[in-house]
Amino acid sequence: MTTNEILPRWDNTTEYPSFTSKEWTADIDAVKAAITKITANMKNFAPQLTNPQEPLPPHALEGMQETLFISSEAMLLLYNLSSYASFEFSLDSKNVEAEKMYSYLYKDMFSQFEIAMTPLNLFLSKTSDENFAQFFKAEKIKDYSFHYSRSRMKKDHLLSEKEEEIMSTLRKDGHTSWGNLYSSISSSARVKINHPSYPEPTSIAVAFGNTQGSDEALRKASWEGIQNTWKEHQQTAAAIVNALAGWRHDVNNLRSTPTKKLDFLDEPLHSNRIKAETLQAMIDACSDYRPKIQAAAKTMAKYYGKKQLDPWDLVAPAPIKSETGLTFKESFKQVKDAFTHMDPTFGEFAQMMLDKNWIDMSIRPNKRNGAYCGGFSKSRSPRVFMTFSGSSQNTSTLAHELGHAYHNWVMRDMTKISTMYTMSLAETASIFAEQTLFDYQISTAKSKDEVLDVYWSIAEGAVSLLLNIPTRFEYEKNFYEKRKAGYVNPDELTGLMNDAYTKWYGDSLSQPDPMFWATKLHFSMSGLSFYNFPYTFGYLFSLSLYARKDEWGKDFSAKYTAILRDTGMMTAEDLVQKHLGEDITDKKFWMKALDTVAVKLEEFNKL
Ligand SMILES: [Zn+2]
Repeated sequence: MTTNEILPRWDNTTEYPSFTSKEWTADIDAVKAAITKITANMKNFAPQLTNPQEPLPPHALEGMQETLFISSEAMLLLYNLSSYASFEFSLDSKNVEAEKMYSYLYKDMFSQFEIAMTPLNLFLSKTSDENFAQFFKAEKIKDYSFHYSRSRMKKDHLLSEKEEEIMSTLRKDGHTSWGNLYSSISSSARVKINHPSYPEPTSIAVAFGNTQGSDEALRKASWEGIQNTWKEHQQTAAAIVNALAGWRHDVNNLRSTPTKKLDFLDEPLHSNRIKAETLQAMIDACSDYRPKIQAAAKTMAKYYGKKQLDPWDLVAPAPIKSETGLTFKESFKQVKDAFTHMDPTFGEFAQMMLDKNWIDMSIRPNKRNGAYCGGFSKSRSPRVFMTFSGSSQNTSTLAHELGHAYHNWVMRDMTKISTMYTMSLAETASIFAEQTLFDYQISTAKSKDEVLDVYWSIAEGAVSLLLNIPTRFEYEKNFYEKRKAGYVNPDELTGLMNDAYTKWYGDSLSQPDPMFWATKLHFSMSGLSFYNFPYTFGYLFSLSLYARKDEWGKDFSAKYTAILRDTGMMTAEDLVQKHLGEDITDKKFWMKALDTVAVKLEEFNKL
């Protein structure tokens, strides 16, 4: 990479010139006015809202439809405002104004909005089928029907209004606090790394960063340091996961009815809009392919001069000579050419993102780490956030994020609510874009190292999504089962984790990652459980679309776009049935996708 290259920067002034601009103030005021109006309407229609089974008189019907419409407009503004605040904060983590506004929007505005909408949301969950059907006949809100019909599926599990209120009040200092406790330990704990470059203890984040580096001695020492740190905190870490799981079991028991008992997977499946049979079919298929993925892990080990991978190698880079590095221009060109090769409109889209200043790759002193794709909901324009490094990994991240941006772009004329896809389908376009880049890079590689570098990314992705994610799922499922019988102590948690590693990695790994139940944030989040299987789902689903590209030929672009446009309005089962005519509750669907991975891994093993 050249030091004086001008890197692309965002121009977000088209949305708001600043936090003090009249445009910003106008949108804030509009949201406040909408909340006031919604609250007043809820009072006016209280008699109907509290008797959801009664037929709706016309004036109440129209008034409530209008209220939902007002809320949809306000929501659009709220998203727009918070995008701007979070983008400004990402560019400069010391921007106090941005931080203040972001927290104001999240802590005050969003929660006021939600409280104002609660009576209508409850009404739409509980009302009769006749009222529901009549309600969504109105053109300007009809797109909300799918969203609310999903909430209605849970209506038998709602408690009384008073009980729901008590539960959300207790949640703040109960359930949510456990997740916060985890975050505060992981940001304040110190790691002692037994390596000359670390005479003083450092943070967990720095130690984890070292495990992604090319220096094996440092990787090992950092991994061991993280293990030791969490071992010191293992009683607290165990208390956190036990409390979170125990709370979820209790809530499920309270919400269970004599005819339908709720279990720990119901909520994660519901929020990902997939069926239990689908998840089972996918996991079973992955299980059958374990030997093939393990073989690739062993090939990776060979490149490190080992028989088996060590747990500190799992996120390590390809062991090739230090890269010469790319300029941004070269990196962007690779992505654009790969996209154009797939479909000219993809390439044009990438160029438009650059020309419109919707990509930020700049290097700034207080810029946040990481990469993401976001967007403005008023102008429906996507934004890609990254920091340029010149590595080949950086190029594939650019393709990945531009894939997300494309997904949002093809839905720009749709109502916001119908574009809200779940995590299981969120990675469809990003992984598709990555695969597009990989295939193009392989076909145009100029050296053996370049080829190896691409295959390494493919193999590492497969090991991560087809062995590591299933390991996490296996552990978490077994832990939730065991938690039903009572407290699970740190030794037992370690035992469950070790068993899961052994089952999925077999002999491709020298030893399990025993403290992973504590070191991995995802097991200790209060907002979500089972933050794992949707990754594998998205990966395999995207690969199964990718495998169709030749078969679709000249219809490819139209078909692909049509699928992306439906991701926010359908369950995954219905989406695949409609567009591919296939049944994802059948293991065979997943095996076809896994076959495409196996072919690539076979190439990698042969290199
Ligand atoms: Zn992504």
